[in-house]
Amino acid sequence: MSGEKTTKHWAEEIAEEVFKRRSAKKHVVATGITPSGHIHIGNLREIIIADAVRNALLKQGVDAEMIYVGDTYDPLRRRYRFLPEGYEKHIGKPLSEIPDPEGCCKNYAEHFLNPFLESLEELGIKIKLYRADELYKRGAYADAIKTALEQRADIKRIIDEATKRRSPEDWSPFNPICESCGRLTTTKVKGFDADGAFYECECGHGGFASFKGGGKLTWRVDWAARWKILGVTVEPFGKDHAVAGGSYDTGVRISKEIYGYEPPFPIPFEHIILKLGGQLAKMSSSAGVNIPVKEILEVVPPEILKYAILRTKPERHIEFDPSLGLLSIIDEYERRFAADEVPFRQLVLHVHLGRRPHSEEVNLSLVRAAAERSGYAVKDKEAFARKARYAERWLQRFAPESMKFELKAALPPEAKTLTEEQKTALQALASMLKEGMTAEELHDAIYAAAKGAGIKGTDAFRAVYIALLGKPSGPRAGWFLASLDKKFVKRRFLEAAA
Ligand SMILES: [Zn+2]
Ligand SMILES: [Zn+2]
Repeated sequence: MSGEKTTKHWAEEIAEEVFKRRSAKKHVVATGITPSGHIHIGNLREIIIADAVRNALLKQGVDAEMIYVGDTYDPLRRRYRFLPEGYEKHIGKPLSEIPDPEGCCKNYAEHFLNPFLESLEELGIKIKLYRADELYKRGAYADAIKTALEQRADIKRIIDEATKRRSPEDWSPFNPICESCGRLTTTKVKGFDADGAFYECECGHGGFASFKGGGKLTWRVDWAARWKILGVTVEPFGKDHAVAGGSYDTGVRISKEIYGYEPPFPIPFEHIILKLGGQLAKMSSSAGVNIPVKEILEVVPPEILKYAILRTKPERHIEFDPSLGLLSIIDEYERRFAADEVPFRQLVLHVHLGRRPHSEEVNLSLVRAAAERSGYAVKDKEAFARKARYAERWLQRFAPESMKFELKAALPPEAKTLTEEQKTALQALASMLKEGMTAEELHDAIYAAAKGAGIKGTDAFRAVYIALLGKPSGPRAGWFLASLDKKFVKRRFLEAAA
């Protein structure tokens, strides 16, 4: 993948460190997410880092695979804003056991997991997928749960020491799922045998929960247990897990002291901060401040999205601005890796010209004609169409208003405001127009026309925009005129000057 060229450096450095510090016949690079809401671009960083490191390991001749654990057995924490009122009653139940809020998938967890998995496919990132509920139900955790209950006091001590807090005396590493109310956040373990635990629930029910699917380890213990169960040797995670006393610290001790397993090589990474309308906002799927990965992949090709994340080292935060910020990253990517294609920025201009009056629909052959008039050779029509669609959607969703315009089908009424000198300039410009003029030649022609009419260049530019768009500003005029049919422009300028 070409986008990795610039960042090969950090991913390869990490791979070398992994090789030195964590021995393994085959490396297992782990990622995972709780699918409680739309999986957003912030979550994607973990996956892209893991993918880069896995690829770097493979490149160094080290066997490696990447796994992804959907934390489908985590409980619903609260009723998020996007959930219907009736979902109050599901709080505390595992996500895999809650119905899909939109009714289209097998359960709640799948509803948010599915689009993300599709995005990974689009990004070309190969993963081995595990669903936590399936791991629990098939008994993969059974031994780990039993060990955790047997060594409950030691685990409690490790966590209390690390967090400098005292957990309640009856703290349990295992949360049974109540058979009556379905919650795992309201039960207390009262004892256990070789196959399961006895519990009482706040709902009044008491029963027996099997170690095979009858409940779940608490997060800090679950994470450490998972390392051994899945043989994890490398794991990137958000820096909040990496703080002193955080879940990686306790995970390391639980892994070594309780499960006798060498913890994975950690790759802590900084957050992606979303920049919308110039404002920074930490992304959170539950608060609704996020852009789902699937939505970003509709406006930008996968290789560029990867590049946008890989160009920054994991320890540095990323300000992700889907508007002009993303456009600059696309420019940068194209300069490096796609210099022979029609630039995205130009396509954003051309897409405007593919629109019929009063229609949202974009006619691709008109877009192509605009690109070709601007001097770009369209070699691969399909690739061109694909890119034009991205530009169109980016324009609709993330372009600032200042970048949007409409080429008027008839002389706009604003043309009445043109001064005599501006009209003279337009007339002069009309006589200079020829098919095949470059953006630069057109730019110079506008200045020449202004000079001839005795006005400032800016007044001539304004006249051009008013005659074509009905407003005093628009896209860079040379490029704009280059992309238009000159006969049409000539007629319009003469009409405006009359
Ligand atoms: Zn669904
Ligand atoms: Zn209950």
